[in-house]
Amino acid sequence: MTGGPERRYRSYRLTGLVIHHRDMGEADRIVSLLTPDRGRIDLLAKGVRKITSRKAGHLDVFTYVRLQVAKGRTWDIITQAEAIRTFPRIRSSLPRTAHAYYIAELLYALAPEEQEDRELFDLALEALGYVETATNLLVVSRWFEAHLLRVTGFQPQLYVCPLCGAPLNVEQVNYWVPQAGGAVCPTCGVAQKGGRPLPARVLKLMRFLHTRPYTHVRELPLRTDVLLELEGYMQAYLRHVLERDIRALKFLHRLRQEFRRT
Ligand SMILES: [Zn+2]
Repeated sequence: MTGGPERRYRSYRLTGLVIHHRDMGEADRIVSLLTPDRGRIDLLAKGVRKITSRKAGHLDVFTYVRLQVAKGRTWDIITQAEAIRTFPRIRSSLPRTAHAYYIAELLYALAPEEQEDRELFDLALEALGYVETATNLLVVSRWFEAHLLRVTGFQPQLYVCPLCGAPLNVEQVNYWVPQAGGAVCPTCGVAQKGGRPLPARVLKLMRFLHTRPYTHVRELPLRTDVLLELEGYMQAYLRHVLERDIRALKFLHRLRQEFRRT
């Protein structure tokens, strides 16, 4: 880097993945990025909604960008934007776009603000790369949410009952109780309000997804009905963690009804 301390203070460079936008005023936009060095940060893109803005295309959601940023009073302001990677196949396919929005929404909700997290950033880039190329997008989303929960410290309990401490027997039906922390043993589970039976096949698949790289997971001959069953359990858990519904998931469900596929 060139320039003295004063120059560094007024302007800086950074790279990140655009995960969210929101409009501000007539022509401005707040752009949220996931960065390796500072977690999630929100920056102001001035005039970016005018047709003539040259920055606009580089600041689309799911773009990996290199930015020049000027320090501002309330918001730091993007002064230059250059795309490093644009994921064109995500943009040209509605199902891929929907799954990418799901990933971006979870990242926006769970990424720490202003806190270094290289593992999370690498996971995000890796997952979008798979959304761009995968033949089974359900597998990518299930794999991503498992690893996102692990990396951000929200991993559900899958091995020991969080209520009594007993090891979970994976060959029997346990219970899924998000407010208790994940899978609980049958004895504790029947007494829990809001718990639902967790079949052995789902718990086994959860354990596999949470501990394996995607390259192992994609080799599994996973049936769509089992992946959708797992989605229901993970949705309940994520709703508990986020304390709200996931908007992108509603969109995915609508798409599924229309196209009868994902
Ligand atoms: Zn128990």
